[in-house]
Amino acid sequence: MEAKFKILLIGKSGVGKSCVLNSFTTSDYEMVQAPTIGVDFKVKEISINNDKIKLGIWDTAGMERYRVMTPSFYRGVQGVILVYDVTDRGSLNDLNSWISELQTYADKSNIVGLVLGNKIDKPRAVSTEDGRIFAQRYRMMFLESSAKTGEGVNFAFEELARKVYETPGLWEYENAEPAPSPTQNQQNCCSGYIW
Ligand code: GDP
Repeated sequence: MEAKFKILLIGKSGVGKSCVLNSFTTSDYEMVQAPTIGVDFKVKEISINNDKIKLGIWDTAGMERYRVMTPSFYRGVQGVILVYDVTDRGSLNDLNSWISELQTYADKSNIVGLVLGNKIDKPRAVSTEDGRIFAQRYRMMFLESSAKTGEGVNFAFEELARKVYETPGLWEYENAEPAPSPTQNQQNCCSGYIW
């Protein structure tokens, strides 16, 4: 059986969203990213419980600098990775405004959120604990990554996709059969739901 999930990458410019996306979709990290304006979109297929899941992943690709994300960017979203840079505390605070925008425009209930602290290969300004506390406040999942080394990147997308998969009513099979009932393996730290 097949399904498609719409996943967004959001967060302050420069936190590494494009690199995280490239690392996941091409296993390739480029030190210098040409800033492109306009939404970037990539697809990667994974399998969960023998189901083929096409992850359609949307990156703001520079538009976040102008705060001109349109409601259509958020339409139909099932999962969101909120990226900050562990070397830049301001990028974690910045996620607050992204979360309010998401809550304004997202149209599905039970959207799954994952806060991702990126650049853990560098000396940090934000501890793992602080990142986790932030995520807990919004009842989101929390993980860390380095798009440079690849550490934690695939796991973040897989965990998010699994949580979407396990959320009843959030998605349907391509042939519109009902989704399977959820399994009760909620994480200890938080549920992963935004609201
Ligand atoms: P975006 O604006 O959020 O899409 O950020 P980019 O993906 O364009 O990355 C911004 C800068 O951070 C680039 O110079 C990247 O090479 C660098 N970068 C991204 N991820 C990492 C990482 O995990 N570690 C390190 N050291 N640098 C990173």
